Amino acid sequence: MSFTVAIDGPAASGKGTISRAVAERFGFAHLDTGLLYRAVGARVLLGIAPITAAQELKAEDLDADDLRSPEVAQSASRVAAIPEVRQALLDFQQAFSRRLGGAVLDGRDIGTVICPEAEVKLFVTASDEVRAARRHAELTGKGLDITLGQVLADLRERDARDAGRVDAPMMVAEDAIKIDTSEMDIDTAVETACAEVAKLR
Ligand code: C5P
Repeated sequence: MSFTVAIDGPAASGKGTISRAVAERFGFAHLDTGLLYRAVGARVLLGIAPITAAQELKAEDLDADDLRSPEVAQSASRVAAIPEVRQALLDFQQAFSRRLGGAVLDGRDIGTVICPEAEVKLFVTASDEVRAARRHAELTGKGLDITLGQVLADLRERDARDAGRVDAPMMVAEDAIKIDTSEMDIDTAVETACAEVAKLR
């Protein structure tokens, strides 16, 4: 049987950590769909045209270095506004979502466009300041020289682009359960999400 958990939300909301933990807890496969857009964005930074980069994306592109850098994140968000890029990545995501044994997909449009029939839909948020502080700690922990203000501006720019685009904008699905992680530690956020999945499992 397939069972799909759709987890959407803005950058650094905690959705990635929650998704991995939910997948592990329930024995589901996990797909970080942001990584697909990051891999396309990274190829575009190397000079490849966005639609070609999306149509010719290969599994090994997901292992490229630096996919987590702020430059790649911005490039990902720019290519993600191109309908043909999204279209090229659609079938793979939908096939993944119907895997036997269950799947967790996290992104921006999973509950609205990729898997509108998902059994569980979560929308994970946190305040801009909390998200920026988390991402700043992550990036400086990797040795990156970047200020909190730059990270905050970067996140806001990306959120505005992701929420404002015409095709598959980031939005809360009508039937999604919202989880605000601003005041939660990661264990509480994971338990809150797992409890929602357990209700419907
Ligand atoms: O989740 P992450 O921050 O890695 O995603 C990078 C970018 O990819 C996002 O800012 C967004 O523009 C795009 N994205 C998307 N739809 C998804 C997942 C990511 O448009 N389902």
